[in-house]
Amino acid sequence: MRKMPWREDPSPYHVYVSEIMLQQTRVETATPYYLRFIQELPDLKSLSEASEERLLKLWEGLGYYSRVRNMKRTAEICVREHGGEIPEDRSALLHLPGIGRYTAGAILSIAMHRPEPVADGNVLRVLSRFTGSRKDISDQKTRLWMEEELHGFLKAWTLQETRDPGMLNQALMELGALICLPNSAPKCAECPWKERCAAFRNGLTGELPVKSPRKARETVDKTVFIVRRGESLALLRNSRKGLLSGLYGLPECQGKLNEEDVRARFGKNAVIRPLKDAKHIFTHLEWHMKAWLVILPMEDPVPDFLKDAVFATEEEAGSAYPVATAYKKWTLFQRLRELKEEDT
Ligand code: SF4
Repeated sequence: MRKMPWREDPSPYHVYVSEIMLQQTRVETATPYYLRFIQELPDLKSLSEASEERLLKLWEGLGYYSRVRNMKRTAEICVREHGGEIPEDRSALLHLPGIGRYTAGAILSIAMHRPEPVADGNVLRVLSRFTGSRKDISDQKTRLWMEEELHGFLKAWTLQETRDPGMLNQALMELGALICLPNSAPKCAECPWKERCAAFRNGLTGELPVKSPRKARETVDKTVFIVRRGESLALLRNSRKGLLSGLYGLPECQGKLNEEDVRARFGKNAVIRPLKDAKHIFTHLEWHMKAWLVILPMEDPVPDFLKDAVFATEEEAGSAYPVATAYKKWTLFQRLRELKEEDT
């Protein structure tokens, strides 16, 4: 198995933090975040006491920020109701915010050595191919069925006490991540299961698993403004519930504005330059962004449109304000320096 920092000391807290981070995030991306998170917040108590701003900063760039908010709520509950520990009971685990069947299975099997299944996308693909199942793995009924089958197998397999269910679950996940690859690209020649695999024996590796296509993403057009005043950049905190709430972003509006529209918004003294368009993809949504650099003269009042903005220096934006990745498509601070050089 690959070396990963959470595998060095798989305590319930370490497995929990790593599994939440690894949802929607690749191992290579998650690793430095994990190390920093564990160093700053080494246990449930410190996590429960951390401010939201600090947590968002630690999570900045990972996306799906509800994950870290739920972690704080979970830590608070564990401290208040479970003696500061992650509960060992499956139903208690499933009542904690952000912990679903998959994460509960990972904590129970890897950290507590219980025969609980962990059926992530990789495992479902491996099992589909190995058994030759033609059931649609994007269907929740199929997921539950496979999870039950795996559960039964784990219980029987671990009757021999030396067998560790956490190891088997991780081995299955690794097989899916490294060998039994998606999109008709499994490396069957390297697979220890090839002799017994139904898909390999029957030439079905390209057809399995069956998976219905995702719905197309919704597209939203918007205009964002990189507004500079002196050495500071305007940032607005997103207070709405849902996507990116609590994070800072650039001032923006719906639709794509032309130069005349931007001028009307910022006044005749502002320097206005177009920047490269950019796109940001969320799971169910795509932002198509038109961007403008706007330099406000220091002597002019800040437009009403920006009355709730903070004007942050590069250092503050880096350390104090968690900025959503969607807005990091442009070199927000460097651009002004370049522009000044161009103008001199
Ligand atoms: S033999 Fe091929 S298809 Fe079957 S489990 Fe191994 S890698 Fe996957």
